[in-house]
Amino acid sequence: MDKFVYDFTEGGKDQKDLLGGKGANLAEMTRLGLPVPPGFTVTTEACRQYLASGSVPSVLRVQVTRALRALEDRVDRQLGDPEDPLLVSVRSGAKFSMPGMMETVLNVGLNDASVRGLAKMSGDERFAWDSYRRLVAMFGKTVLGVDGDLFAGALDALKRERGAAQDVDLGAEDLRELVDTYKALVERETGRPFPQHPREQLDLAIVAVFDSWNTERARLYRRRERIPHDLGTAVNICTMVFGNLGADSGTGVCFTRDPATGRQGVYGDYLPNAQGEDVVAGIRNTLTLADLAERDPKSAGQLHSVMRRLETHYRDLCDIEFTVERGTLWMLQTRVGKRTAAAAFRIAAQLVDEQLITLDEALQRVTGAQLAQLTFPHFDPAAERQLVATGLAASPGAAVGVAVFDSATAVARHAAGESVVLVRRETNPDDLEGMIAAAGVLTSRGGRTSHAAVVARGMGRTCVCGAEAVHVDEEHRMARITRPDGAEVEIREGDVIAVDGSSGEVFVGDVPVVTSPVATYLEHGLDEATAGLDEETRELVEAVHRILSHADATRRLRVRANADTGEDAARARRLGAEGVGLCRTEHMFLGDRRALIERLILATGDDERASALEALVPLQRDDFVELFEAMDGLPVTVRLLDPPLHEFLPDLTELSVRVALARERGDDGPGVAADEALLGAVRRLHESNPMLGLRGVRLGLVVPGLFAMQVRAVADAAATRLAAGGDPRVEIMVPLVGSVMELHLIRDETGGVIAEVAERAGVTLDIPIGTMIELPRAALTAGRIAEAADFFSFGTNDLTQTAWGFSRDDVEAAFFAAYLDKGVFTVSPFETLDVLGVGRLVEIAVQDGRRARPHLKMGVCGEHGGDPESVHFFHHVGLDYVSCSPFRVPVARLEAGRAAVAHDDTAAGLAGPR
Ligand code: PEP
Ligand code: MG
Repeated sequence: MDKFVYDFTEGGKDQKDLLGGKGANLAEMTRLGLPVPPGFTVTTEACRQYLASGSVPSVLRVQVTRALRALEDRVDRQLGDPEDPLLVSVRSGAKFSMPGMMETVLNVGLNDASVRGLAKMSGDERFAWDSYRRLVAMFGKTVLGVDGDLFAGALDALKRERGAAQDVDLGAEDLRELVDTYKALVERETGRPFPQHPREQLDLAIVAVFDSWNTERARLYRRRERIPHDLGTAVNICTMVFGNLGADSGTGVCFTRDPATGRQGVYGDYLPNAQGEDVVAGIRNTLTLADLAERDPKSAGQLHSVMRRLETHYRDLCDIEFTVERGTLWMLQTRVGKRTAAAAFRIAAQLVDEQLITLDEALQRVTGAQLAQLTFPHFDPAAERQLVATGLAASPGAAVGVAVFDSATAVARHAAGESVVLVRRETNPDDLEGMIAAAGVLTSRGGRTSHAAVVARGMGRTCVCGAEAVHVDEEHRMARITRPDGAEVEIREGDVIAVDGSSGEVFVGDVPVVTSPVATYLEHGLDEATAGLDEETRELVEAVHRILSHADATRRLRVRANADTGEDAARARRLGAEGVGLCRTEHMFLGDRRALIERLILATGDDERASALEALVPLQRDDFVELFEAMDGLPVTVRLLDPPLHEFLPDLTELSVRVALARERGDDGPGVAADEALLGAVRRLHESNPMLGLRGVRLGLVVPGLFAMQVRAVADAAATRLAAGGDPRVEIMVPLVGSVMELHLIRDETGGVIAEVAERAGVTLDIPIGTMIELPRAALTAGRIAEAADFFSFGTNDLTQTAWGFSRDDVEAAFFAAYLDKGVFTVSPFETLDVLGVGRLVEIAVQDGRRARPHLKMGVCGEHGGDPESVHFFHHVGLDYVSCSPFRVPVARLEAGRAAVAHDDTAAGLAGPR
């Protein structure tokens, strides 16, 4: 029989797959002997079976009964008992945290009878009725599907009637009346009374949590975070403890280090006399841990020692949710905390210094995506700006955009091409789409653990929260701000504002943005980057330097760049590239030089063609000289011409119209004759599927002299660099090969050219000739192709296109959104390598190629070469190098290091299609 229910005393932190993150960590804390209210977890497997079959597995009910009875025995109370009720919370908890995306129901077990027992046992009538009305509303909304606004409306109406300014101004009698109103509401909306039976409440709540896995907002969040849709959520049933039992109770969230900056020292928010949800929702502004220590030194002291214990145990930043019930501390949740990119690097380096982790582990604590984020620009400190408010620095970055006051407008204006800043009093999960669309988020309420802050940090969005001077009037789409000098400023929808998520500052108007010190470090080194920096930023840059240097020392994969010009190559080299893995020579034929290719295409005889080609040689040679000079001493792979020739010719329709108009005018001058000849060529070369047509090696074989010309230019350039005392390490690469014969033919033609240039220049030229592997046939016959190739470079862009039969220029816009939505992909296979399909082709080619030629050098030069997950795959499959855009080189260096120290060989790509 499947075991669907685990008591908190049974599991541990490594069982996140089965118990979800929250359940696994509750079990871990229980094992550590920390004060966790007793409870049990229903597994993700139960959820998966429920979602697949549409009904609750029958043994689950039995197992819940047994776990519940054991729990009741332990706390010596029974669920919903009229005299002294046990109440439980029912909380979702998936493997990966999805903050606020799924459901929670508190106070399960309360009914018309047990509410009186609760009143008696707590000695607090008001508290009991307040708890009951919260249950009816929460249960009504999340379990029974009643519109939540109806409850909020009823509460507001009652407050108005009683002249109560806040919820706390309502007394026990008022709340009792509110419960009646809520229950009537439930009956009216659902056609049945609010369920009184405690066990029925529990069973329905469990199912509601299962169902919440598939809400639209949960699916959207998972797509963004690349969390697979088939994991399901666990459900945690936990004895209720109450932070709202008076001044000696309260609830809070804390971190063992600052998750926004990485600053050392504990940090947290505490709300006295409140229930857990109040802190995260940011409804009231919070106190600090220092305030807690003043009010309740015993609980604060205990909390500090729990934090130290947890950080030592997890050897990482932990975040913790806790409640103090009448002076007793309870731990409700812990996990290794989310953090900003800067905090990730700083904390990893600090933990190395504190000898809690090794440098290898530090490398695993940061990601390429975080490094990329740190290279984001920030506001120019020297620029003039109009500070209007300061809030909490919740998620770093600099965002400038038009102010919008609701999620739908953020989405619409973003889609229209504008940069937007979403301004809200506070955010809730319904704002997710707006937050995704916005460059930045500003809220007037809530702490750094409010919904806005947590979600923005997770997405890498700039966010300032709790800017109390900003009075948001969502109804009128505006905000009134009381400036620090007391003056009033108004912001209306469409006004430009700027928010600084690193300082918490809010500005009116545009503020220029400058490069980050990490970007400066990556390109110009430590000394230049750290000169004049404040202590914290210096610590960050030094942390990046240390961890990236360790990645460089550890990685097996070399990292090259895709660069077509000397300038790009020089920049890539400064960013740490160890060569050029792909120089796309077609870019050298654009602009003025397009005319020369036209001449080549229009040539009617051998002589004309030869002279057109001859004219191209010196131009190409000069380009290569520059490139080889920039990468002196490092390998440079030059790819022979790849795209279909029509790409160098005018557009068919435009040219047809031009010729037709000229004819109509009766124009028969030389210009028209030339256009007509050109039109003939464009028609001749027109293809229905040019990406599967006359391109790559096929061009080299049917346009006599084309590849030979390019090889001559490469060899000439190499000879020129040698003569100048340089050290050119040139490689020539043939694109779109599908058969070894193609490669043999090209080698036969070009080998002679290289020898001829070398002889004429009196130098030795050692220029390996290799091939791209970018067609399935090439991958499947790699053993044969290896006979004629000095190296392989995987063109995973074309390989993805041809393996899937996707036209890469068309499909992303046409239907990828639908595919992502339906879960066929969790990420575009053009972004992250499809390990199962395209990866399999790569693997076959690596194995067969090496079998034929053991020391065959292999790399990848498709876009995937700079994608973090794909880099791990390329490491595991045994490539020698990855090559990517210059700006992604540091990311690839870091990820290659991480791949080398990773213990698992899951080879990433798990997010890819199945
Ligand atoms: C590839 O196909 O992966 C590649 C690098 O070539 P291109 O993108 O130029 O077709
Ligand atoms: Mg290609």
